[in-house]
Amino acid sequence: MSDRYDVVIVGAGQGGAQTAAVLRQQEHGGTILMIGDEPDLPYDRPPLSKEYLAGEKPFEKMLLRPPSFWADKKIDLRLGRRATSVDAEAHRVVLDDGAIVSYGALVWATGGAPRKIVCTGHDLRGVHTVRSRGDVDRLRCELATTSRVVVIGAGYIGLEAAAVLSKLGKHVTVREAMDRVLSRVAGEDLSRFYEREHRARGVDLRFGARVACIEENAGAASGVRLEDGEILAAEMVIVGIGITPAVEPLLAAGAYGGDGVLVDLQGKTSLPDVYAVGDCAAHANVHAHGAVVRLESIQNANDQATVVAKVLAGKPTAYDAVPTFWSNQWELRLQTVGLSKGHDAAVVRGKPEDRRFSVVYFREGKIVALDCVNAMKDYVQGKALIASGRAFDPSAVARADVELKSLL
Ligand code: FAD
Repeated sequence: MSDRYDVVIVGAGQGGAQTAAVLRQQEHGGTILMIGDEPDLPYDRPPLSKEYLAGEKPFEKMLLRPPSFWADKKIDLRLGRRATSVDAEAHRVVLDDGAIVSYGALVWATGGAPRKIVCTGHDLRGVHTVRSRGDVDRLRCELATTSRVVVIGAGYIGLEAAAVLSKLGKHVTVREAMDRVLSRVAGEDLSRFYEREHRARGVDLRFGARVACIEENAGAASGVRLEDGEILAAEMVIVGIGITPAVEPLLAAGAYGGDGVLVDLQGKTSLPDVYAVGDCAAHANVHAHGAVVRLESIQNANDQATVVAKVLAGKPTAYDAVPTFWSNQWELRLQTVGLSKGHDAAVVRGKPEDRRFSVVYFREGKIVALDCVNAMKDYVQGKALIASGRAFDPSAVARADVELKSLL
């Protein structure tokens, strides 16, 4: 005997919750089940490396919907359960307790697991990742006995954690393998700005670092040894080196993909009636000039989920949303719109030393992205410039005394 649902959603995070909520908004009247391997109701992940880590936001305020929402909307939840395999032909999912659930449509919204560092000591007490509430709760339990922290990886999550922990009075060291921070997602002007800001506040930040091993003392991490022989003493090590999309069951079932599962602009995978959204969904993005990308952002998870829910509710649409992202470090609010990868020119509007400026990225004369630091107006108006698809004169765009919208 197996349960049968019209829609089964695997993953009770941002994309899964949004899919379920929009299905009901769109008056989908079928049965819906959402399966999630975390014990908690769907919650907002960004505060994990910001206010929640800092102890400034209680978990209850991070819930994506009030606890009563799910029963009110007749969305069944199975939390603390993991989907382990998919039989695409039979339209069935198997869970880690052996339960079998049949589906009319399956939505895969599993995000990703933090990439582990491959070296001796990677699993010692005191070595952490920042992906789930459980991760951050474990980390916070050790804060009282921690005075030195090494962060491996200078992406957004590593830098946000570095900012919070440094504000809490910890001595924070950041080591990055590449030659600048945020190298995967931002241009050089922005990287250099954030490097200066972190260093000015006492963060020890260096590049080209390769980790040899995590040093141990009595079963716990006592530091990080680099390949060049440097030893960084620390009671806590945070590994922030990206995620691996959680798509093994789908790939094992025959779905196309590799780094994520491949979906079309309606979120459909190559398996019949199987969709994917969010961090795990690789798609040809119009804002990346058609390149296949995976985006790891709230905007992408929400917008892809909305598209899939509409498709399932019989109101088909296609995913073409302009990518957005934000990051809070210290009192710096970064808002990003568009994708800067592949840009051929960039100009800075305003002065980084004023801590209010934007980097505007061009490709073949057109604006493809903006990184705006404490510059909300540029962020809002820049979106319209990207959407216009027009070419702009970089020297006019660089003039901070001219509002971007006046260039349209
Ligand atoms: P998730 O929200 O990760 O949800 C996936 C869920 O599926 C998880 O609960 C996972 O445990 C579960 N799961 C995985 N495999 C299975 C399985 N087999 N069976 C059942 N359940 C499974 N984005 C921004 O735009 N701005 C930010 O400032 C920002 N800050 C962030 C800070 C942190 C610390 C993190 C971790 C992320 C941040 N993000 C930010 C990214 C954003 O949170 C993600 O892009 C978004 O949550 C992706 O949604 P998702 O549904 O794809 O995955």
